[in-house]
Amino acid sequence: MSIALQDRFVRDLPELAVPWRAGAVADPALLVLNEPLAVDLGLDPDWLRSPDGLRLLVGTQLPDGAAPAAQAYAGHQFGGFVPRLGDGRALLLGELVDARGRERDLHLKGSGRTPFARGGDGLAAIGPMLREYVISEAMHALHIPTTRALAVVATGNPVYRETVLPGAVLARVAASHLRVGSFQYAAMHWQQTGDVDLLRRLADHAIARHHPGAADAENRYLALLDAVIAVQADLVARWMLVGFVHGVMNTDNMTISGETIDYGPCAFMEGFDPQTVFSSIDSSGRYAYGNQPAVALWNLTRFAEALLPLLDQDVDRAVELAQASLSTFQERYNAGWSEGMAAKLGLSGAPADAVADPVTDLLPQLRQSRVDHTLFYRWLATAARGDAEPVRGEFIDLAAFDAWLARWRAADPDPDAMDRVNPLYIPRNHLVEEALSAATAGDLGPFQRLLDVVRSPFEERPGLERYAEPGAREFTDSFQTFCGT
Ligand code: AMP
Ligand code: MG
Repeated sequence: MSIALQDRFVRDLPELAVPWRAGAVADPALLVLNEPLAVDLGLDPDWLRSPDGLRLLVGTQLPDGAAPAAQAYAGHQFGGFVPRLGDGRALLLGELVDARGRERDLHLKGSGRTPFARGGDGLAAIGPMLREYVISEAMHALHIPTTRALAVVATGNPVYRETVLPGAVLARVAASHLRVGSFQYAAMHWQQTGDVDLLRRLADHAIARHHPGAADAENRYLALLDAVIAVQADLVARWMLVGFVHGVMNTDNMTISGETIDYGPCAFMEGFDPQTVFSSIDSSGRYAYGNQPAVALWNLTRFAEALLPLLDQDVDRAVELAQASLSTFQERYNAGWSEGMAAKLGLSGAPADAVADPVTDLLPQLRQSRVDHTLFYRWLATAARGDAEPVRGEFIDLAAFDAWLARWRAADPDPDAMDRVNPLYIPRNHLVEEALSAATAGDLGPFQRLLDVVRSPFEERPGLERYAEPGAREFTDSFQTFCGT
């Protein structure tokens, strides 16, 4: 089979692409292949499983004309600017056109050191790559824009972390890998040379790929800023509605397309608490669940700063335009979140004031009682069907909750509509850890079962009770995730 890999990024933006090759792979063995995604991309799953297919999936044998490259970008990591980050252990293989005519990046993670590797070994272990696979598939099933995992291939090479682990390469598909950090990198070039050409080409590339409507606007770069603010406000609202904690919202991990990217230290919150943090290095709680909308705006402000020379020749005017655009974020975010919350509460068609503002009335109660963020809405649907006992049993201040419940029921919530938007099965931390430990030891069974469960998150299935249950409180309270593993 011949696959058509394009080299659009490398041709449009050679300054942001270092031609590079994947490292040798001793003994590639397929661990998991995303067959529906492969078909969507016009790739034959049987061929991908073949020796030639595996060599494509680890980057050691590419079609003629392919121009693999490590991408350059900058980024604010925990608020501190790093001028040169880039793909330290990743490669863009090229772009594919999927069955719907959309251009998608084919990208590898764990494919060896690149010139951006700094002190890193360029490698990835099986566990974290399977983690990205299962969580990004869960996100996709939850209708949240995300990069997708096409395959995880074990390399047969050891990876040295705290212990020796089996190595793997993740093949990932994304609308693109353009990040806020890509623009920060190009803006730095402008600051150093006074030449705005690279930044303009990058912005034009982003408009053509992701926000083509902006091309017709009077000020196309302002329209690009508006469009990215809109997709990110919508994305983060969706994260908040499902209890997703990204964990490392550095500007290099925020896409221009509006897809979720970088599944290093992310995790789903269980008991509702805005201060929820899982990442071992996020000691200040910068990327806590409840801070995510504010951090998104902070990152978008860095994006707007990078775009300033394109917004207007007059600096003051450019700043004014950027500020006006940024000021729409909160409203867009609130609109997305409120609409999603109304759906979660089964009140989509109801007037906005059918129940009091959940932010002031419901969330403090969920927090006080640390109610499971996922199961709460399923229990609530059960209450709408007549049995309020399961949900009532979760609250410490029962009188306050009963008062809220009575008002909510009076608004006539639709329990079936609720179950269509509120997942029953999410990749809970204890289940993910259990699946990854087994996979690292050679048993993919628990991983495959978990993957199957989270791919159909809304429909209750008999026999899957344990997948719906929260982890033990002691496990969740001490659970930690790690970056770059
Ligand atoms: P992340 O935390 O995954 O967003 O990664 C931040 C930066 O560190 C990126 O430039 C990565 O390419 C780089 N990086 C992470 N892990 C490694 C590794 N094992 N080897 C080389 N570079 C890495
Ligand atoms: Mg990253």
